Amino acid sequence: MRYGIFSDTHANLDALETVLRAFDRERVDALVCLGDTVGYGAQPNECCELVRKNARHTTLGNHDAAVAGRMDYSYYYDAAREALDLHSSILSEDNLEWLKSLTYQEKDGETHFCHGSPVDLEEFEYIFSVEQAATCIPIWERLGQATFIGHSHLCKSFAIGRERVYEVVTKEFEVHPEFRYIISVGSVGQPRDHDPRASYTIYDTDRGHFWFKRVEYNINAAAQKIFSDHRLSDSFGARLFAGV
Ligand code: ZN
Repeated sequence: MRYGIFSDTHANLDALETVLRAFDRERVDALVCLGDTVGYGAQPNECCELVRKNARHTTLGNHDAAVAGRMDYSYYYDAAREALDLHSSILSEDNLEWLKSLTYQEKDGETHFCHGSPVDLEEFEYIFSVEQAATCIPIWERLGQATFIGHSHLCKSFAIGRERVYEVVTKEFEVHPEFRYIISVGSVGQPRDHDPRASYTIYDTDRGHFWFKRVEYNINAAAQKIFSDHRLSDSFGARLFAGV
């Protein structure tokens, strides 16, 4: 199975459409979305509809949980909270029901999918450092060969040994059976690694081969929609150009 895996679209339709076209060209067998389809951006309904239509599996992100009334987000900073309030007020009934129905984790054999750390799925803990990845050592036995996560908006891979964790720094690699892997797939709609291109990934379960990929999209179009919607903070548009 050749999976196309993506996360953190954050209502950025221009980026999502570009990534879906890239997956088409890459001839993947099935798509998996790791959550946070809503929040920050200008087109939450359109993005939910496209993900619903195209992804075989979708896991719940913290922004999805917030909008669907499944999580307290009163402690989020003002602009992020206001975007979530706005999205929950404009999402269609069907899209809200879909967000309410999403699971915290999906599995296909040895390939697992979730939004944040798999240690405690409902806590949405970040994993983007070796120290954070090491918190997975105690659950080594129940990790799949590869666990794909989102949440940090960073592209990071960690090989989890029974006693030690190593960061894998290449953009493409093959998994080794003596390790378990945590792979953070980056963000479609709001990259934060100073590379403004949309991030997407491919994993071939037969060969155990993984690829990080990036694709340019029309950032200006996405940003202008945010700037022209006065209910959204301009900062959510401005940061797209820098990829932060
Ligand atoms: Zn996110």
